[in-house]
Formats: sequence, structure tokens, C-alpha cells
Amino acid sequence: MGEKSDEWKSAIDTTRPSIARAYDVVLHGKDNFEVDRAFVAEIVKVIPEIYDVAAYNRQILDRGVRFMIEQGITQFLDLGSGLPTVENTHQVAQRANPEARVVYVDNDPMVLAHGRALLAENERTAVVTSDLRDPAVILGDEAVQRLIDFDRPVGVMLVGILHHLHDDEDPQGIVEAYMAAVPSGSYLFITHFCDSSQESREAEKQYLALLGTGRFRTVAEITGFFQGFELVEPGVVPLPLWRPEAAVPEELTVGQRLMFGGIARKP
Ligand code: SAM
Repeated sequence: MGEKSDEWKSAIDTTRPSIARAYDVVLHGKDNFEVDRAFVAEIVKVIPEIYDVAAYNRQILDRGVRFMIEQGITQFLDLGSGLPTVENTHQVAQRANPEARVVYVDNDPMVLAHGRALLAENERTAVVTSDLRDPAVILGDEAVQRLIDFDRPVGVMLVGILHHLHDDEDPQGIVEAYMAAVPSGSYLFITHFCDSSQESREAEKQYLALLGTGRFRTVAEITGFFQGFELVEPGVVPLPLWRPEAAVPEELTVGQRLMFGGIARKP
């Protein structure tokens, strides 16, 4: 990397865990530091299955993107996209439809550094390093404007991210702002930490204390994000139960119930 492309390094705070890097730890990635691994080690004490939870989230991301492609969606706004991993949104989407366009949005400097090269690998994908809490900035971004045609349906993805927004940051208003910008026939895809067990409540305390974010909302609160849209079957459910492609046990574990998700269509 040249001098200019090393600028991101100074923006990285290795004294505190970051959401993107901690998630990279549970996805068995390499873009993380000791402080991130130490954070995950604390979460493992409460949720031993946390690595599996991350895998369930990536699996529903894959199923959800393919579902939206089947509904005719060809353009995706992946908000809070994370560090590149296996089977990123554009790989899943473009395998099904090579013309599909994906804009990734993340505010972590590591995503800028590692994402640009790996995620923006063709002219139909781009990485925007910006804060998704400012929809006007994101929607007006040059790459978003270039790749997304707002006259045609869009797949708006808020996968594993809304729980990192505090209530006073108005996550509902943020969802509404993005969905107001896209036409009828667009889809909203959300996965979210859920207040679904004693362990989840303990995990919330650890996330808030050690990471600073992590709001485990109730099923009703998560469902509320979809207000005004038509939830597709099976609604807002534990991740392994959303259109499963493999057999699921009748009794779910704490980890299998830790995140809920769903997809809805804008009427
Ligand atoms: N969507 C991916 C997935 O589900 O596999 C990644 C989820 S990861 C848990 C959440 C991502 O959101 C992180 O990469 C983090 O940097 C990013 N993020 C957190 N707050 C953000 C914000 N305000 N604006 C943009 N990105 C944000």
C-alpha cells in the first residue's frame, strides 16, 4: 500500500473493540486485534454459541439475498455491510444475476482499507465509507447515485446492524428514511439481536459495557421496524427458521434464538 492508502491506519483505534472487527472474530476472520478477541472472549462466557450465531446471520444473508433476487430485485443497498468475508452480498447476488448492483456502506476504517479492494471488485459494486445514521448523506452519495436507480425496486439491507443503534438515535426514523427513498416493490431485510432469553439480557449488558452498543430488542420491537410493509412468510422469526434450507430442530437453543430477522415488501 502507498502512503495515501495507509491513511486509514491512523483512524483505527486498537484500544477499544470495534463492531466490525469483533464480528470478524466470530466469523473466524483475520482483520481483528487482541482487544476485539478479548471482547468476544467475554461474550463467549455468556453466549458460548456466539460463533454459531454469526454463522446463522451469514446464512440468512445468503438466503435473503437470493430470495430478493428471485423477486426480481437487481440492486442492493447493504447498510452496515461489515468487513469482507466469504459469500458477500455481491457474490451471492451476481452469481444469480451477473447484472446485479451492490453498494456497501460501513463507517469502520478497516472496511475502507480491506473492503475497497475485495468488495468493489467489479464496476457493479462499490464501498461507501459513511455513517448510515445520516440517510441523506448516504442517499446522495456519488456511488449510490451512480449504481442505484431509485426509480426501480431496491433491496435495502440492515443485517446485523440496527441493534448497534441506540433508541435515541431513532433507528425507526432511519429505516423509514431509506424506505421512503425507494419505490413500491422494494424490500427491507433486517436481522437483529433479540431479547429472547436470560442469556440475551446478560449479553446485552456485556455489549453495552464493553462495546458501547448492542440493544437486544423484543420481537415486537423488531417487527415494528417493518411497519407499513408487507412481511413475507414466515415473518419475523429466529434466523434458522427463516425459509430454512436444512432441517431445523423443534427446540431452538439460546444461540439459535439470539437473533431474529425478516424481509418485507414495500407495497
Ligand atoms: N451486515 C453484515 C452481516 O450481517 O454480516 C455485517 C454486520 S456487522 C455486525 C455490523 C457492521 O455495521 C459493522 O461492520 C460496523 O462497522 C457497521 N456499522 C456500525 N455502526 C455503523 C454506522 N453508524 N454506520 C455505518 N456502519 C456502521
